[in-house]
Amino acid sequence: MDNVAKEPVIKIKDLDVIYFLGKSNEVQALKNVNLEIYPGEFIIFFGPSGCGKSTLLYSIAGLETNIHGNIFIDDKDLSSMKIKEIEEYHRKKMGIIFQAFYLINSLSILNNVILPQIFLSAKYEERKKKAYELLEHFGVRAQAHKLPTELSGGQQQRVAICRSLMNNPELLLADEPVGNLDSKSSDEVMALLGELNEKEKKTVILVTHNPAHLRFAHRVFYMKDGMITDVKVNKEVDRSPEAALERVQEGGEERPSISRELELLLRTYSGLSSAQAGSLLIPFKAKQIVLEVLVGMTTEEIDEIEKKVENLLIRGVDDNNEIMNFLDIDAEKGGMGLDKRTAERLAAKIKDIVTEIEFLEKADVTPPGGEIVDTEVEIVQIRRYLLDEFDAKVANINALKNFDTAIKDRIENKIDRVKFQKNLDIPVLKGGVGFDKRSAKKVAKRMELLILGKYK
Ligand code: ADP
Ligand code: MG
Repeated sequence: MDNVAKEPVIKIKDLDVIYFLGKSNEVQALKNVNLEIYPGEFIIFFGPSGCGKSTLLYSIAGLETNIHGNIFIDDKDLSSMKIKEIEEYHRKKMGIIFQAFYLINSLSILNNVILPQIFLSAKYEERKKKAYELLEHFGVRAQAHKLPTELSGGQQQRVAICRSLMNNPELLLADEPVGNLDSKSSDEVMALLGELNEKEKKTVILVTHNPAHLRFAHRVFYMKDGMITDVKVNKEVDRSPEAALERVQEGGEERPSISRELELLLRTYSGLSSAQAGSLLIPFKAKQIVLEVLVGMTTEEIDEIEKKVENLLIRGVDDNNEIMNFLDIDAEKGGMGLDKRTAERLAAKIKDIVTEIEFLEKADVTPPGGEIVDTEVEIVQIRRYLLDEFDAKVANINALKNFDTAIKDRIENKIDRVKFQKNLDIPVLKGGVGFDKRSAKKVAKRMELLILGKYK
């Protein structure tokens, strides 16, 4: 098939990923990785724990910062992409499925699927209809009004898959998506991923250490110690890249069994807003910054500092001085207590990232919720969830009302997350909820993750 035009969707050239570069605890997570992945392929990264599979997957997702070498997405170098372009990549092209399901236990299955769409201008009824269709397609429609805890692990992962498909990505990345499931459920979920690849022509990149999954892939990249040691084409199911390309070329030959309506519907999903894309990156970025700079600390200390950086990213900062102050102050007083040189380096880095996030927010032109009807139920559910989750107390009915208003305004994008947090913080008599600063911060942060649908 020499005459078939092979345009890889992903091309990696001489990729190294090194943590703690130049330090005594330097870790080379990836070494000299070279690969190409073609549209329509089902690829597996296979190898023992710690060999670098997740690092490779997150590098492709554009979520890894310690990169040396080049990653091309559709021939565009990821490292040279403008923020807008990376945002576009996350919003339109890529979906991720994690090992954990990230479902919100106090929300119905239906609302779990709808929630990431909450910023979009589509009316509630429309969003609901779309969610039902996805749930139907993945065999969990009957569970729509149940809570996640009432579902089996396999069913929960299907719901999570529904969510990852909300913006109809052509590239589906999955990091050990069945790692938590019993073998029957994992077979079912694997079959669904196979179907998404075969019938909807999605390019799937799956990370696994389970050899039973290898038969699903067109090609398997074997990994060890951060290197790709072997590439095997899976002849038994005849899913070589050539075969994959042929199928893509044949086009109409193998029509998806998915209903036409659903197909249309998937195409109309427009994905996350810029602000959402921005907040998606926060936990990853906070982790990267912290891990890169801090050496020789205990896991607990790193966790603690990570939270602080994450809060700082969410809160936003005006200038380097503010960051420096934060870094200089003793840890017991809420700062990071770093030595000056480290603090300066970290401050510059945080500044960059915060600027980037603020840029994403300003660039957000998503219209407010439009004529969203029926949000009352959602609002009450969200309020209950937030209060339960943080065991937060409200003084009186007015505080509750103000809380609901703040949630509504945030959902409809009338206020940004900074204002939302402020509203939680100010006294009830002044229209606020009257939380203390700490609770306001925590609740506001959770609200952002909630909107994003990436609850941790
Ligand atoms: P796998 O997914 O195959 O289990 P990972 O990609 O998670 O492997 O990790 C590869 C190597 O990189 C491991 O040695 C791991 O400890 C290290 N590593 C991963 N992430 C980080 C990080 N953020 N900071 C430092 N080391 C890391
Ligand atoms: Mg991993």
